Amino acid sequence: MKIFGQNVFNDAVMRERLPKAAYKSLRKTIEQGLPLDPSVAEIVANAMKDWAIEKGATHFTHWFQPLTGITAEKHDSFISPTAHGLVAMEFSGKELIQGEPDASSFPSGGIRATFEARGYTAWDCTSPAFLKEDGGTLTLCIPTAFCSYTGEALDRKTPLLRSMEALSKQAMRMLKLFGNTSTKRVISTVGPEQEYFLIDKKFFDQRMDLMLTGRTLFGAMAPKGQELEDHYFGSLKTRIAAFMHDLNVELWKLGVLAKTQHNEVAPAQFELAPIFGTTNIATDHNQLVMDSLKKVALKHDMVCLLHEKPYAGINGSGKHNNWSMSTSDGQNLLEPGQNPHENFQFLTMICAIVKAVDDYAELLRVSAANPGNDHRLGANEAPPAIISIFLGDQLTDIFEQLQNGTINRSLHGENLASGVKTLPAFQKDSTDRNRTSPFAFTGNKFEFRMVASSQSIAGPNVVLNLIVAEVLSQFADRLEKAPDFDKALQELLKETATNHKRILFDGNGYSEEWVQEATKRGLPNITSTVDANLVLTRESTIDLYEKHKVLSRTELESRYEINLEQYTKQINIEALTMINMAKNMIFPAAVKYSTLLANSINAIKYASDAIDVSAQQELLKEVCSTLVSFKANLGILEKDIQEATTITEAYQQAVYYRDVVFTAMQALRGDGDQLETMIDAELWPLPTYAQMLFML
Ligand code: ADP
Ligand code: MG
Repeated sequence: MKIFGQNVFNDAVMRERLPKAAYKSLRKTIEQGLPLDPSVAEIVANAMKDWAIEKGATHFTHWFQPLTGITAEKHDSFISPTAHGLVAMEFSGKELIQGEPDASSFPSGGIRATFEARGYTAWDCTSPAFLKEDGGTLTLCIPTAFCSYTGEALDRKTPLLRSMEALSKQAMRMLKLFGNTSTKRVISTVGPEQEYFLIDKKFFDQRMDLMLTGRTLFGAMAPKGQELEDHYFGSLKTRIAAFMHDLNVELWKLGVLAKTQHNEVAPAQFELAPIFGTTNIATDHNQLVMDSLKKVALKHDMVCLLHEKPYAGINGSGKHNNWSMSTSDGQNLLEPGQNPHENFQFLTMICAIVKAVDDYAELLRVSAANPGNDHRLGANEAPPAIISIFLGDQLTDIFEQLQNGTINRSLHGENLASGVKTLPAFQKDSTDRNRTSPFAFTGNKFEFRMVASSQSIAGPNVVLNLIVAEVLSQFADRLEKAPDFDKALQELLKETATNHKRILFDGNGYSEEWVQEATKRGLPNITSTVDANLVLTRESTIDLYEKHKVLSRTELESRYEINLEQYTKQINIEALTMINMAKNMIFPAAVKYSTLLANSINAIKYASDAIDVSAQQELLKEVCSTLVSFKANLGILEKDIQEATTITEAYQQAVYYRDVVFTAMQALRGDGDQLETMIDAELWPLPTYAQMLFML
């Protein structure tokens, strides 16, 4: 396909345009993590510039991922003045390798006061540079890491790259123990499935809540929701199909392997999944996917909503983060093979992951926490807030054998009995699926299903890489010392399977029984972002991150602060938006309607005393009494926000927003939605759920 990767400075382009020696040197850096030779950077910069200019680019930017959760760019043009008032197009090795955006306005959680504005971006040559199209212009984007003058990470990429190093190092120790001498690196791989909503732009433009907060803060339920389940995998409407086609083209140009797409469970909800890749590139690509979704939707007069819970009462959006480990020679370490019970390297990896998820469930939980996701996790639509693992029949059986100490069989899937002779007979997977599990083994990878739809997938993958690296390091410490490897391994696996069976669960994660059972098992059930955050500053967490050089104490503390601050700010914006909508839109509409009713009653009575106006009177009474409650709840919310500003300690303030402000918002919404059901549709100032969800 001609368009695929046409805007990417990928391996094929590099091979064609770089001198052989420079190309080889760069590949070594990419594949083996060796330091980059500065003279090679100079050559690469030149080739990159020529390529970009030939394609029509005039500017370049270091493209980075500050802790705002989105990507940032600062564009510079290639032009450089020469003699006689002319310019040349230049791009030096230094400009490629290093940039210095003013860092003072990005969140740093106290690492850097605004007067110490220096921050650096550094080229990440493991993720290919690309050309981004914006309004007909092309800009050369160079993926970079972003750090402070003192070297602390101010972004999401830096810890991700560090965690990949850590995982590779520890996994390599294990592979050596299994006699592998050919593998040079172990790479974590990710395929993130992205869910999103689309809404017609004309409705979006009339919803201040969607514009400012990404979710509807008012809105009565539509008569129809997702109960018929007729949207899931339903055939695509023409408009959506056209959008998806354009989206695919955009993504393919950027080298993103967009593969599957379908309608999701909720009306107006969709999903896109790319083919998996190296975690670092998959993370960059997911940012590009989110960016492209928004841009392409606008071209089709729609807006893409990436918020985790744009609408109450129907499912929200998440990301399924499919994760595995692969060797540099292409072997998937989570591939069970025909007889997993004989594949001890595979079983060791599975045991390590099970132990890691059990030991560090709270870290995984916080990695998926954001205010939007608080509406989903534990709300019987997304996975529960309790972390557990679904292994499926085959592996569960092997796990039980491991606990017993003798392992001699692998269960296999039976032939699928469709009852129709003309349908092909095929073997079922050895495992069914469990949609309620937050962490499920799906054949040759794990699927972490808690991840929030709007967040960068870097955070969750940092945690996955880190915790698995830690357990592999514990395993390797023990096995490397053992006089009899086989015996020591048997013992280790038996011990791990026994000690961590509590994390395995294949039942209904939405049930109340599971909540109780999980409590009995001692599994944490953390329902809010605010509490999930606390684990970040625990000494054991800091030790873990520092041991593997993924984040330092200062970096963790800054992330803790940023998370709390972002939580508080987000709820504050939502509350202020609600107040604004309540005062300037809903209240006036209710007043207009009640006046209309009152006038009607008076007019009819004036016309004739004999006509029964009790229906209007009753409705008027209902509208007015709801309005009284609405006004009272509005007052409470305003007072609560005032109060919130007097709390200075970040955690306490966030708790207040969660417990008090958020509760007041719910009460106000209740009355607002009640008014919507009573008031004349022509007077109602907001597009309804039915319009937003079904008029696409
Ligand atoms: P499903 O969730 O229905 O199983 P797929 O089989 O298409 O769907 O897989 C979902 C995602 O998992 C895709 O993005 C796919 O590329 C990704 N995936 C498959 N194998 C791996 C792997 N070894 N590592 C990481 N992701 C993978
Ligand atoms: Mg999936």
